[in-house]
Amino acid sequence: MIQDTDRLIARLTAAATKDYNKIVEAAGEKVANLHEECGVFGIYCPGEDVARLTFFALFALQHRGQESAGIATSDGKKIQFYGDMGLVSQVFDENALGQLTGHIAIGHNRYSTTGSSRRMNIQPIVLGTGADTMAIGNNGNIVNSAHLYRELCEQGYNFRSSTDTEVVGDLILSAPSTDWIERIRYAMRRLQGAYSTVMLTKDALYVFRDPWGVRPLCLGSLNGGFVVASESCALDHIGAKLIREIDPGEIIRISQNGVESFREPIRKRALCIFEYIYFARPDSYMNGQLIYPTRTAMGANLSKEYPVDADAVMGVPDTATAAGIGYAQEANKPYCEGLLKNRYVGRTFIAPDQRIRDLGVKLKFNPLPQMLKGQRMVVVDDSIVRGTTTPKVVDLIRRAGAKEIHMRICAPPIKYPCFFGVDMATRKELIASHKSVEEIRQFIGADSLGYLSLDGLLKSVNLPGDSFCTACFTGEYPIPVQLEMDKLALENS
Ligand code: SF4
Repeated sequence: MIQDTDRLIARLTAAATKDYNKIVEAAGEKVANLHEECGVFGIYCPGEDVARLTFFALFALQHRGQESAGIATSDGKKIQFYGDMGLVSQVFDENALGQLTGHIAIGHNRYSTTGSSRRMNIQPIVLGTGADTMAIGNNGNIVNSAHLYRELCEQGYNFRSSTDTEVVGDLILSAPSTDWIERIRYAMRRLQGAYSTVMLTKDALYVFRDPWGVRPLCLGSLNGGFVVASESCALDHIGAKLIREIDPGEIIRISQNGVESFREPIRKRALCIFEYIYFARPDSYMNGQLIYPTRTAMGANLSKEYPVDADAVMGVPDTATAAGIGYAQEANKPYCEGLLKNRYVGRTFIAPDQRIRDLGVKLKFNPLPQMLKGQRMVVVDDSIVRGTTTPKVVDLIRRAGAKEIHMRICAPPIKYPCFFGVDMATRKELIASHKSVEEIRQFIGADSLGYLSLDGLLKSVNLPGDSFCTACFTGEYPIPVQLEMDKLALENS
């Protein structure tokens, strides 16, 4: 729970002095790799088994969060919830789904920055009483959540989780209105940060997206009903049809009256560009574009920016496969699979013993020496964050017999941390914040290293640069970050 006053005050002090480095240091140690935080889904569909459909949609969104999964449903009279730690397929069985009756459902996959088994943070969270009962799940990061938390505590709200989703929910409940749209509007005017949120009451499904549109959210139709999801791939898997994206600043209510849209003013549009590079599945659509060809274009532009005399090209599976293919096509070189990924390695609650831990990256990738022996390889990857994994991948490929390894990265160097829902690392942990490209090349042990330029990245995505957040490359945040300490206080308490 949010109880550590000393740490909270330390962060508030850091923020008050706007000392960026102190704020970043206050974040403490975070996990090594780039992780999205959460996938959300919602459905309003009388006559359908909405819990089962939500299960399959969450299954399709598993890549967005593997820590815990939950579903809440309503049959018009009562709200029911089931959730647990683990993967979607580990959490739910026929018995659990059978208890989740009704015609409205929301679901949530969580990636936790705290990492440990914190059951209290499983979402959706059920809040309120009587006619005010609701369930809520969120993808994003509220940067002024500690400030709002204090205010809500003073008003008598008791928090049982350490998520900012509960802050959003209680803020909605605290609004001076009984109309849910007015309550959400009240909350949105006070929230700073990234949020794509699903919420259900006894008789309606509500969804809303922050005015910058940092995290994705789309609307679809299914058998006379409607669905919403973080990514369109979830719609495909349950036979729903994509209608459109939910706009930044938009609130949608889905009820027996159909879909009603209410809008708050859009701020600067700032969709996270890492959705295109890494997070989203390549079969999802965003801004009307399929992700897959934008990734092949990243590879093609990398090939133009950093050509090299090599025998073959490979992508580090799975996220860099499309970019690897794009590089190979542009360079007119053969594409090969030099590494096989164990796709089911995922998250496990079984702790590896030391011998298994020492295997490190081998647990995830197995090289194919027949493809690599004596070859001068171009190896395309999506990003280098802390630089802890890439040297191991390079070493694995070299030990399998590659003669030369030319690393090509689909993004510019990551120099600044993310404050909008992506669990990356603190600034001092980001290798590109304190090493030059040549120093990074030496550190990872590659024969050459090339990062795609920001121009090359934006050309690949083929949308105006001011549609995106690119802050982890440029340090230019679309939302003020001095408020970030609020979030850090929540996460570390
Ligand atoms: S800082 Fe980077 S990872 Fe975070 S939202 Fe912006 S582009 Fe995405």
